[in-house]
Amino acid sequence: MANAGNAGNAGNGADIGVIGGSGFYSFLEDVTEVEVTTPYGSPSDSLFFGELAGRRVVFLPRHGRGHHLPPHRINYRANLWALRSAGVRQVLGPCAVGGLRPEYGPGTLLVPDQLVDRTKARTQTFFDGEPLPDGTVPNVVHTSFADPYCPDGRKVALAAAHGRGWEAVDGGTMVVIEGPRFSTRAESQWHAAMGWSVVGMTGHPEALLARELGLCYTSMALVTDLDAGAETGDGVSHTEVLRVFGENVGRLREVLFDAVAALPETESRSCLCTRVHDGWDLGIELP
Ligand SMILES: [Zn+2]
Repeated sequence: MANAGNAGNAGNGADIGVIGGSGFYSFLEDVTEVEVTTPYGSPSDSLFFGELAGRRVVFLPRHGRGHHLPPHRINYRANLWALRSAGVRQVLGPCAVGGLRPEYGPGTLLVPDQLVDRTKARTQTFFDGEPLPDGTVPNVVHTSFADPYCPDGRKVALAAAHGRGWEAVDGGTMVVIEGPRFSTRAESQWHAAMGWSVVGMTGHPEALLARELGLCYTSMALVTDLDAGAETGDGVSHTEVLRVFGENVGRLREVLFDAVAALPETESRSCLCTRVHDGWDLGIELP
């Protein structure tokens, strides 16, 4: 079977996945922790299954509990494969970003509609010719990624924010850098001059790998700081990022949970994400 370490058998199954820190699930009642493996190795942490508004949800701490994995060391393929194996078909990906425009200050929530990849050393595909443990070999597949985020998931996220009185920025470009360092002032000014909106370190290849697995993926970017080119002080500091994230995690959680409740049922999805591999012979069976 392609789905070695099938999380669906081990856990309770879930059709919605949230890739985000423990601040999002730690207080839920009846969270079940399930350790899983995948053909690509171990995900960032165990999967944490819970229930929200009648929906089965699984949480995966992107950086591992205790935040020990830097962005460039995250096993993105294992994370997405593990979620799909658990039954997940729709993923919400909250993340912290830097604002590239003065008007996108700390506390801004932005639901991007575009992405620019400036990472350098990350495995970006499942379709690389590496055989799976069952001996099947993925074919060469070129995945459509013109619109990297689920259009329906984006609408749900924006409506959920609106419902909580937090007007999110509808659209914008997230540029994803390799990290773990922050940008230089010149890099940041360049990113801004290109018209990009926010800068992060984890949005890629997370969104692409979700797309490759036919998952709906929606990014919810919380601005924790103005990036070096957009502010006038000493540049981005980690302390400040943590402070702003801490201040906003409560309302981000509320928005996230409302979005979970409002996502379409798996079977009723009609977005482009579900048709991404129409006409392709993948060579492997997705979990
Ligand atoms: Zn979709």
